[in-house]
Amino acid sequence: YMKFSDYTYIRLDYTAIKAQFSDLTEQLAQASDLETTRTLVIATTKLLNLIDTHYNLWMIRHTIDMNDEFYNEETKFWNEYYPLFEELTTNYYRVIVQTPYKVELADILPETFFMQAENKLKTFSSDVIPLFQKENELTDEYNKLIAGAEIDFQGQTYNLAQMGPFGQSTDRDVRKAASAATTAFFESKEADFDRVYDELVKVRTEIAHKLGFKDYVEYGYLKMNRFDYNRDMVKVYREEILKHIVPIVQDLRQRQANRLQVPSLKHYDLNLEFLDGNAVPQGDPDFIVSQAQDMYRELSAETGEFFDFMIEHELLDLNAKPGKNSGGYCTYIPDYKSPFIFSNFNGTSGDIDVLTHEAGHAFQVYRSRWIQSPEVVWPTYETCEIHSMSMEFMTWPWMDRFFKEQVDKYKFTHLASALLFLPYGVLVDHFQHEVYEHPEMTPAERKATWKKLQDLYLPDRDYSESEALNRGIFWYRQGHIFASPFYYIDYTLAQVCALQFWKRTQVDHDENAWEDYIRICDLGGTKSFLQVVEAANLQSPFKEGALESTAKAAADWLDAVKDTDL
Ligand code: ZN
Repeated sequence: YMKFSDYTYIRLDYTAIKAQFSDLTEQLAQASDLETTRTLVIATTKLLNLIDTHYNLWMIRHTIDMNDEFYNEETKFWNEYYPLFEELTTNYYRVIVQTPYKVELADILPETFFMQAENKLKTFSSDVIPLFQKENELTDEYNKLIAGAEIDFQGQTYNLAQMGPFGQSTDRDVRKAASAATTAFFESKEADFDRVYDELVKVRTEIAHKLGFKDYVEYGYLKMNRFDYNRDMVKVYREEILKHIVPIVQDLRQRQANRLQVPSLKHYDLNLEFLDGNAVPQGDPDFIVSQAQDMYRELSAETGEFFDFMIEHELLDLNAKPGKNSGGYCTYIPDYKSPFIFSNFNGTSGDIDVLTHEAGHAFQVYRSRWIQSPEVVWPTYETCEIHSMSMEFMTWPWMDRFFKEQVDKYKFTHLASALLFLPYGVLVDHFQHEVYEHPEMTPAERKATWKKLQDLYLPDRDYSESEALNRGIFWYRQGHIFASPFYYIDYTLAQVCALQFWKRTQVDHDENAWEDYIRICDLGGTKSFLQVVEAANLQSPFKEGALESTAKAAADWLDAVKDTDL
């Protein structure tokens, strides 16, 4: 098998590609029959896949080692040229949206392709390319700040991912000291985080204004391709979370305090679920991967084939190491028809979540390899997260393989965390609405805004022992806020869908659930969010009562667990 390390990266020749691309677009504008149009669309799609392939190869290798000099040089190339490639793409969109053959081309260009293309035409203009380039540089600066974190703790130096396990230590002094050390890192770079974000907000607002939008919020909804819902619906949804989920979360936090035998939780207690320790994987990374391979073979023929492919081609980079960017992601390399999974294993249960969450993304995109246009291999973000978050629950029957006698602890924590996440998720969303609706805010005012909203959505969060966190700097560690504006409500919408899959498999023993899941993986990005929700036989999170009833099913299950015995 060809391995990931054999996938060849080349610096694309922009001038040559531009000539080829422009020529195809010009011919397309002149094309007067279906067959010519189809041939030109296929040729253009091949070029788009070529660009996407090398962009992804660079991105993966750069994030695996942010100190690699070769890929650091290539970062400069992509920051500068990516918007220029986008310009070529947009010129193509301007022509193709006029085609009289939309119906006949639906096998290559589904309806969602045209919806996205229309949005791209509104959100991109050659006049603002220098601003996109500036935005890319700032995002990269943020990534470097995070990847460069060197935290001295107990005589050793750690990066942010490696600090994770200390936050779950059963020794309260260790948790407290670890939290203080991590916070001290963010505080030491406070001026940098503030400056980078301030410049990002200003440059994004300028992009929105130059393109005729009222603010970056309006721009952001189009850029995120939110076809089925708007700002007002999201506002109502956030209020529903406040009303129905925040009380459940407060109850769960009180139960956690009881388990930890403290009167109330301090901020450094939040990541420890059980007094004798959280559930942790009962083996090293090789053990985890081999268990995952067995699991996916047993789950279905389709997942078995998929995961074997990932291993045979070495499409997983799982362990935390110095210089590696933080977080986890899944991406897709079109010319090799390969998904890729990136994560930072650190010995916590989160390692298993990666192999179910990111593998859910990777499985979807693997099932969507039949789709030729790179724009619609993936669905929009809130839909993508249905695939990933639901896979976390679809694999519950195999969790004893990873956690052995700690499996019940794991399941309790996993389901509880799905609910605990919802208020935090809408907090991140609400914060960004405030920030971009008031771009003139100073960094200090932004921190005060975060603090105010945090008190609203996370009323029992106790930062009284940390002046910096109490001032509102927690969000520096939330990469989406810097790199992917407005990509966050998506997780909460998808969670409500994933919890329905949890209920169907775990409570209702619904035999059609897996079939429904595979169906929406096969759809990829050829349908919009609510169309996918419908195809999966799920209720829309926006539908009156759907959020409340879904959360209640999970809360009831958690209530029935004697958590103090776990
Ligand atoms: Zn995800």
